[in-house]
Amino acid sequence: MTSYDYDLFTIGAGSGGVRASRMAAAMGARVAVAEERYMGGTCVNVGCIPKKLFAYAGHYADDFDDAVGFGWHRPVPSFDWPTLVANKDKEILRLNGVYERLLAGAGVTVLRARARVLDPHTVEVDGRRISARHILIATGGWPFIPDIPGKELAITSNEAFHLPELPKRVIVVGGGYIAVEFASIFNGIGVDTLLSYRGDCLLKVFDADLGTFLATEMAKKGVRVELRSHIDAIERRGDKLACQFSDGNIVEVDAVLYATGRAPHTAGLGLEEAGVKFAGNGAVIVDEHFQSSVPSIHAIGDVIHRVQLTPVALAEGMVVADRLFGEGQRGVDYRYVATAVFSNPNVGTVGLSEAQARREYPQVEIYRTSFTPLKHRLSGRDESTLMKLVVDKATDRVLGVHMVGAEAGEIIQGFAVALTCGATKRQFDATIGIHPTAAEEFVTMREPVKG
Ligand SMILES: Cc1cc2nc3c(=O)[nH]c(=O)nc-3n(C[C@H](O)[C@H](O)[C@H](O)COP(=O)(O)OP(=O)(O)OC[C@H]3O[C@@H](n4cnc5c(N)ncnc54)[C@H](O)[C@@H]3O)c2cc1C
Repeated sequence: MTSYDYDLFTIGAGSGGVRASRMAAAMGARVAVAEERYMGGTCVNVGCIPKKLFAYAGHYADDFDDAVGFGWHRPVPSFDWPTLVANKDKEILRLNGVYERLLAGAGVTVLRARARVLDPHTVEVDGRRISARHILIATGGWPFIPDIPGKELAITSNEAFHLPELPKRVIVVGGGYIAVEFASIFNGIGVDTLLSYRGDCLLKVFDADLGTFLATEMAKKGVRVELRSHIDAIERRGDKLACQFSDGNIVEVDAVLYATGRAPHTAGLGLEEAGVKFAGNGAVIVDEHFQSSVPSIHAIGDVIHRVQLTPVALAEGMVVADRLFGEGQRGVDYRYVATAVFSNPNVGTVGLSEAQARREYPQVEIYRTSFTPLKHRLSGRDESTLMKLVVDKATDRVLGVHMVGAEAGEIIQGFAVALTCGATKRQFDATIGIHPTAAEEFVTMREPVKG
């Protein structure tokens, strides 16, 4: 029998790689992981965590304004960008340590260097050849900027977390969740913000009502949302960037942030040479067990480009560890993966959009409500909340739950459990609401607005 240095060698200590490595080690495997940049990967360093911390910062502006209607009078507080960045960095450093300790505690060998695959059972790290029975590719994704003149002047979310100075004016390009989140963050902390998206509806992968409603709400808060808008070129003019739009308009700003998608991070990994097959979008092709076209090489997380979310990468990592070293009973069910968008206001969504449901089911009922939350009766803020249920008429099963409004992400998590359990509209109706909350509206919508 061939003997290997390790049972599992993981490339990438991000969300998926760390979880798979820890689980595998806990099951008795000898595991090593290589990380070239930062412990904890995208989520901890330039993704979910710093993004959410920045989103909190952006929300305070609303809170200060809203408090006046409740009797609070204070001088208008000022905002200090370096304080936010430094405090965020401190928290991330703490989390880097947590990840490092979790791996060490599980007995995983951590190599702080870039790794490359040499053949189906060998990797190279720092000029050293290391053999492994299994190799796991968990290298994540990398932001992608379309090829336009001046693209090198633009930044991505990676740099946005470390800007030395807060821009006065910014253009955020894109219509996905990262774009709307950054537009909300910048707008909230006082930056004059234009959101430019070439499509005609934000958040196009979700129910269309969410993107439409969000665009209106973001505009009320001061973000200039421009749809069917495209930048042809970016040029430096003194200390400004001049963006030439296809309609002939030129807009000068301090920073242009492209949030136009993330490509699987596979360049120079040696995978092609080892025989691993890729999809047209650069994703590693894997089967339902996350095995690539090379049996000893598996891949998980953003590099397989299925659902690019941390909890999904974690779930996929656990499936691989269980399959290789455990009982092989686990799987990932992608149907009811709930998603939160930490824009202002938040978006929460789980299950099928109305359009998806209409494609898959002969008769669909839509329940929808929009209202001014109680808080804004006193704050005077012009902000509405949207809630929507998509129901299969034949079985009464709730297929989708969608919301735009405060704490939508927190609210939708519980409904994801209900949908996973196959809840029906009748069961929603039989649930007694919590009063007074926004969430109670989800169990009190009685009349469909569309059959
Ligand atoms: C701005 C932003 C906000 C986000 N917000 C959310 C959110 O709110 N909720 C959510 O669920 N998800 C969010 N995500 C997505 C989430 O971060 C990813 O889905 C998740 O991190 C994917 O995990 P992963 O393990 O596939 O890869 P990653 O976490 O990207 O980890 C990959 C790791 O591999 C390392 N690596 C790459 N190549 C090599 C190599 N050759 N050798 C050694 N190491 C290598 C990288 O340095 C990296 O640390 C966000 C992403 C971004 C960019």
